Amino acid sequence: MDLYEYQGKELFRRFGIAVSEGRLVTSPEEARTAAQELGGQVVVKAQVLTGGRGKAGGIKLAEGPEDAEQHARDILGLDIRGHVVRKLWIEAASEIEREYYLSLTFDRGEKKALFMFTKEGGVDIEEVAAERPEALAKLHVDPLEGFQAYQARRLIYGAGIEDEGEQKQIAKLAARLYTAFVECDAMLCEVNPLIVTPSGEVKALDSKFTVDDNALYKHPDIAEMRDLDAYPPEERAAREKDVTYVKLDGEVGVLGNGAGLVMSTLDVVALAGGQPANFCDLGGGGDAEGVVDALEIISADPQVKSILFNIFGGITRCDEVARGILQALERLTIEEPIVVRLDGTNAEEGRALLKEAAPPNLHVEPTMLDAARRAVELAP
Ligand code: GDP
Ligand code: MN
Repeated sequence: MDLYEYQGKELFRRFGIAVSEGRLVTSPEEARTAAQELGGQVVVKAQVLTGGRGKAGGIKLAEGPEDAEQHARDILGLDIRGHVVRKLWIEAASEIEREYYLSLTFDRGEKKALFMFTKEGGVDIEEVAAERPEALAKLHVDPLEGFQAYQARRLIYGAGIEDEGEQKQIAKLAARLYTAFVECDAMLCEVNPLIVTPSGEVKALDSKFTVDDNALYKHPDIAEMRDLDAYPPEERAAREKDVTYVKLDGEVGVLGNGAGLVMSTLDVVALAGGQPANFCDLGGGGDAEGVVDALEIISADPQVKSILFNIFGGITRCDEVARGILQALERLTIEEPIVVRLDGTNAEEGRALLKEAAPPNLHVEPTMLDAARRAVELAP
């Protein structure tokens, strides 16, 4: 889950990383009030889940409340790479002497966290990495060893930081960033720019913070930060119902149990000459509730012309899923034809149940390929 800048900064603050004071607002009037409260110059910052806001006109310096209100008016509603601005972060402006770049992410190959640090911050880091790789200091952190003081020094000297005051502050900040990264189960913590003020203070002026979705159950406070309005409507409904769903472009709705099986189902639909309309994983369950929720979300997509149910029973029992399907069909009106393939644990019982009930528009096929072909045929 990607966090907004203001949310990432909230986490930074919790871990003792220096950030500026600010206020979250949603209207020009609130922006004016926030600027009044903060006093002096403020920065009006678009809160969207994408980078490059500055270049897109989503970051503006304001001299005072009136100016802040005007900038807020200009920035609210702005489309930044497909993200419409609905929230602003009004922050006490900082004086900037230098802009650095510091990030912490995963190097999956090395199975270690990876720090990247360069004095050439503020701009596109990809450019620095491509054109001047020697300016970019990289450092792996062994998860068992943790981030040690000698590593902080290596990182800082590696990037060529010579000022002693800066060295000390950055070492401390990097250690705190590592703690935040580990304790929040982050996938990415990026500070660009990490600034040095004219008085020599180091602080985080921006934040990109991504938390591992699979760890959110451990962090209810972070999970709560999710902004459902930032997702497409189908995915929003799916999240509310706890259904794993990704919208795709085709016409065959797909539902399976287990991510791997669903991925293969997408392939088989393509092999049969069709296009999947979505990825939807029922997970380990197959109870009526889960099936109803999933069917509701899939069939709400107007592009869907047929629905393919692909279940391989392991722990999940096929008779249970068959009951789920039948109950779901009693509760919902589904216009599209449904093709079902059941295999594995209690598959025969499951198929027998479907055959006995024989709801209209439901087709049972013996194999995955047969089922995919049928679903494609039925989705003209
Ligand atoms: P991004 O464009 O989405 O990465 O947004 P940032 O928060 O990184 O802001 C972009 C740029 O705006 C920064 O690199 C700074 O140069 C400038 N900026 C942001 N906040 C301030 C501030 O408080 N004072 C000054 N002088 N410039 C700022
Ligand atoms: Mn930035």
